[in-house]
Amino acid sequence: MSDCIFCKIIKGDVTAKLVHSDERLVAFEDINPQAPVHVLIVPTEHLNNNLALTAAHAPLMGEVFLLANTIARSYGIDATGFRVVTNCGSHGGQTVGHIHFHLLGGRPMTWPPG
Ligand code: AMP
Ligand code: ZN
Repeated sequence: MSDCIFCKIIKGDVTAKLVHSDERLVAFEDINPQAPVHVLIVPTEHLNNNLALTAAHAPLMGEVFLLANTIARSYGIDATGFRVVTNCGSHGGQTVGHIHFHLLGGRPMTWPPG
């Protein structure tokens, strides 16, 4: 999608601190980190949010969580733990309309979220 910031990052038209890139998923550091480690895991396919997922995306969702584990290990936050979260729609707190998963760690998380 031409006016989507994450599609622009995926295409390489906007720079980001890339952590991972393959055909199906990219990961890059969040521009406004909410924790010492804050990485976004982003499917390369433009989907508005979780509600656009179909059964065909089920394997991709598994890849998201496996990649989150790999990145958590590479940042050394696997032993202390981390959070993987996705925001869906306005009440979910979604601000970018391209599905993505936040990997947060490096400090204790609180619950419930705000
Ligand atoms: P959400 O509010 O769940 O939609 O998350 C969107 C996230 O994208 C926020 O944490 C933003 O800080 C982050 N973000 C927005 N633009 C960029 C960018 N150009 N590079 C990296 N992260 C970004
Ligand atoms: Zn997009």
